Amino acid sequence: MHEMALCEGIIGIVEEEARKRAFAKVKVVCLEIGALSHVAPEALKFCFEAIAARSIARGARLEIVETPGTAWCMACSKSVEINQRYEPCPSCGGYQLQVTGGEEMRVRELEVD
Ligand SMILES: [Zn+2]
Repeated sequence: MHEMALCEGIIGIVEEEARKRAFAKVKVVCLEIGALSHVAPEALKFCFEAIAARSIARGARLEIVETPGTAWCMACSKSVEINQRYEPCPSCGGYQLQVTGGEEMRVRELEVD
């Protein structure tokens, strides 16, 4: 499962931070997920709990912040927000869009003890 690999990546980041910052417990992991990243937040939460149970992030709460997709509209010559790939430009209704953001997933913040 796609989300399983993503969670292993997240835990890897958390464990690396734990080494660098020398904390022993993680309370909250705040994740940013782009609207165009094809990550299902519910599946991600489920996998996170399963994997976190064997790591320093045991018992940590996963918070997910969804960020909008962004694209450059060639017709408008500006950056616009989109919720899905192949959506028309919200300003002009055209399809001359190049996706520029919202495909990524990253750890925004860790709340630790
Ligand atoms: Zn446009």
